[in-house]
Amino acid sequence: MLIPHLKTMLEQERQRPIALADCCAFYGVCFFAQLVLWAQLGESASGLLLVLTTVVATLGVFKANNNSQAGVLLKRTLPAALERNWNSFAPLLLSLLWLGMALLPQTGAVDTAFVFMLLSVLMLLAVTPFGALQAILFSLPVLVAANHYALTGPWDSALHIVLLLNISFVVFWYGVLRDQKLLLSSGHKVPELDLAQDDRVASLTERERDLEQTIQDRTKDLRDANTQLSQQIALRKKISDALVKSQTRLTQAIDASRLGLIDWDITNGQFYQSAFHSLFGSKEQDSQELIQTLKKAIHPADYHKVRDTLNACLAGERLEYQLQYRVEDGAQWLWIEECGKVVDHDAAGHAARILGTRRNIHTEMLRDEQVRLAKSVFDHTSEGVFVLDHEACFLSVNPAYTKITGHSSDNLVGQSIEACSETPRKTEVFERVLSEVRSKGQWQGELLEKRRQGDYYPQWTQINAIRDEQGQLKYYAGLVSDLSDRKAVDEKLAYLLNYDDLTKLANRVQFRDQLHRALVRYKDEGTAFALVTMDIDRFKQFNDSFGHHPSDSLLVAVAERLSLSVQKVDILARVGGNEFACLVACSETFSVDQFAQRLFNAVTHKPYEIAGHEVVLSCSVGIALVPEHTHELESLMQFGALAVQKAKFQGGNQVQTFDESLKSFSKKRLEIEQELRKALTQGELEVYYQPKLDLKQSRITSFEALIRWMHPTRGLVSPDEFVNIAEENGLISDLGQFVLETACRQTQLWSEQGLGQLHVSVNLSPRQLKDPALRSVISETLDVTEISPHCVELELTESAIMEDAQSAISLLNDLREIGIKVSVDDFGTGYSSLSYLKELPVDTLKIDRAFIENIEHSKDQQAIAKAIIVLGSTLNLQVVAEGVESQEQLSLLEAYGCDLIQGYFVSKPLAVDAMESLLKQQCVASTKHSA
Ligand code: C2E
Ligand code: CA
Ligand code: CA
Repeated sequence: MLIPHLKTMLEQERQRPIALADCCAFYGVCFFAQLVLWAQLGESASGLLLVLTTVVATLGVFKANNNSQAGVLLKRTLPAALERNWNSFAPLLLSLLWLGMALLPQTGAVDTAFVFMLLSVLMLLAVTPFGALQAILFSLPVLVAANHYALTGPWDSALHIVLLLNISFVVFWYGVLRDQKLLLSSGHKVPELDLAQDDRVASLTERERDLEQTIQDRTKDLRDANTQLSQQIALRKKISDALVKSQTRLTQAIDASRLGLIDWDITNGQFYQSAFHSLFGSKEQDSQELIQTLKKAIHPADYHKVRDTLNACLAGERLEYQLQYRVEDGAQWLWIEECGKVVDHDAAGHAARILGTRRNIHTEMLRDEQVRLAKSVFDHTSEGVFVLDHEACFLSVNPAYTKITGHSSDNLVGQSIEACSETPRKTEVFERVLSEVRSKGQWQGELLEKRRQGDYYPQWTQINAIRDEQGQLKYYAGLVSDLSDRKAVDEKLAYLLNYDDLTKLANRVQFRDQLHRALVRYKDEGTAFALVTMDIDRFKQFNDSFGHHPSDSLLVAVAERLSLSVQKVDILARVGGNEFACLVACSETFSVDQFAQRLFNAVTHKPYEIAGHEVVLSCSVGIALVPEHTHELESLMQFGALAVQKAKFQGGNQVQTFDESLKSFSKKRLEIEQELRKALTQGELEVYYQPKLDLKQSRITSFEALIRWMHPTRGLVSPDEFVNIAEENGLISDLGQFVLETACRQTQLWSEQGLGQLHVSVNLSPRQLKDPALRSVISETLDVTEISPHCVELELTESAIMEDAQSAISLLNDLREIGIKVSVDDFGTGYSSLSYLKELPVDTLKIDRAFIENIEHSKDQQAIAKAIIVLGSTLNLQVVAEGVESQEQLSLLEAYGCDLIQGYFVSKPLAVDAMESLLKQQCVASTKHSA
């Protein structure tokens, strides 16, 4: 009966939950008891027992606290039987250890025995919460130990103590068993039914405990799962927080870097871009849209490169790319840099996804361009440029610098400027230069430097200081240029400034300067001097017909002749295109007229060879004197020019000295020039006719046409006053044409009126002779006026023909071919070459008035006139004497055999009417005579 009950009890006890506090108290008391006893005994064996006790107690405490990690661990590691019966096993083991302690040799002290007893009691009290059976099992070894102590202890009445001890234990057991309802009443039988009921109660209790335990376990499992779950949730939250944070950081970083992300999912045809929407359109686009956008936005010049690169990536030929291209941004093109990478491929190896970034690099590109530009300037400038570090050692030099100095960049970089220089006293020089750069920021000056090739050259150097933001000197920047070329240019310039490059004579600037000095000298020392100015007549025509180069050589020849005609102290200059001047000191014995004549002769008396032609120059020379005329520079030059103008006005080829009347000359001349233009169009010009008397026939057979200007206010103006002006300004061609046409028409009219077979001579100026249109003008006039060419004669001066004899001869030949006659006017005054005369295609020689005037009183003139007449008849030329004013003159000339005479003695030039009546008179007279 008792055994099954005990079994059940044991089972119940085993399942019995023991409060954690009770467990701790029991294990604590056991440990404490052992510790005290170990302290009392001090044996090594007791130490071992203490250790074992400590281990069991500790395990017990851990086991009691199931929730602790150690408890969970123990539950898993301990063998199942031990784990299940722990509450029975542990007290038994501890009591056995306690017994072991009691069996150790004793010290014999009463205290120890007493303490032992007391501790045993304490342990018994502590074990009671473990249940009755455990208490009894525990108490048995303790009882043995206590008895052993009592019996072997140092007591006098051991037996009493043993008895008392054992009774105490029995009482203890009884108490315990009663408490556990194991003994209901001593000697009473326990009825069957009661037992069965007890069994049911026990099984119910047991189930209840099972249930409780299950609930506890489940609750615990649930709590564990819950804990795990919340731990996982916390972990998840942590991760997601971290993710959000890192994404924010990434977005902000991208924002800050101003990058735009691009993501092209090619497989699904989707494109995403995070920025630059104003340039590339919306955030999300399909592939087709993307291609259209790129085509539209990218600069045409860059588009092909972009397209080809992307195509290569799409085809799987490229894995990544970096492109720089321009896109349209309103009115301008913006530079963008795009970097991309194929991050995914499809099975065929084609790109499936491209990721990349875009960046605005416009400012960088502009800066790059500026840098490139600066670099190009640095590389290509003709000035040498160098940069030195703060210790004045070369950092870099440009190609021009190496060219100037002859030192290569490699030889210079790293070297100090002073070490590379060869300038005299270089240490001293560079100390001063660099100290000035440091203090003033700049130095510039000329250094004498030596090239690597060994030659010295003047070098213009400029060095500037370059400082950092703190004002510390960081670099020296320098600029050098080779002055040797510039010096040569300067010299050339100075030469050009003062000398005429063509003739090597002084030029106008230099001449003015010399005039100024001469005037100063006159003021200081009273040295008188003359200014002789010479102007080649009709030089422009030479230029026009021969071209510049031959005309230049003509000027050089003139300069040479003039140079030979002056002395070293005289200053000869070319002061204008065809204008020369000479400054000559005048001593008392010096004749400036002779000097001027000498220059004039030098220029005019011998022909020049120009472009295969022999030409003769005429020139107009003017003289102005200091102090007679002026002692001011400007008026001196002006007076010289006026004298030349006067000479020119009088037909050129002469020397004129300034006089006061010339002061108004220029003005008058200008007026005439302006009015002459009007005169031509307003019919103020008329043709007069001066008859020529044929001495053999004693009748007027021809006449000379002479221009007249009927000025509305001034009256009749002589051709001497305006023909030369017309000659110079070119009006002479129109004027000449007018005279020719009028004279021919009139002559033809008179002939038609039956006034005789008349011949008219018309004057041709030198300029007209050079006019290429002359041939056609003459033949047209002959056609229009219907006059026979045999009735027309052209008068040309000797010098006009000789200026360019070859051309003149060819023209005259042409004219004679059509029947026109040619007369040499003013014969004997100009350049005469008898040998030439033979070849000249002329019909008449007209002895100049100068030889006729006073001929009756001058044997020389008579001789000349006679000679010309003889020459004429020898060459089979008609000879006309002009300016015949008296019967004596006429008789002389008639006696010499002159053919025709012209002059006031016969008649002054006559207006049309007067001439006509003269001709009519002659007709009447001859009719009468023949009648
Ligand atoms: P020229 O060809 O030698 O003309 C002769 C000049 O001598 C004329 O002066 C005439 O009036 C003048 N004369 C004639 N007989 C005598 C005389 O017995 N005593 C004096 N003292 N003089 C006499 P004019 O008409 O004043 O002409 C002056 C010059 O003007 C001309 O000199 C000629 O070179 C030029 N000339 C006149 N008409 C024309 C013209 O139609 N064309 C061109 N190219 N030149 C002209
Ligand atoms: Ca004439
Ligand atoms: Ca004449």
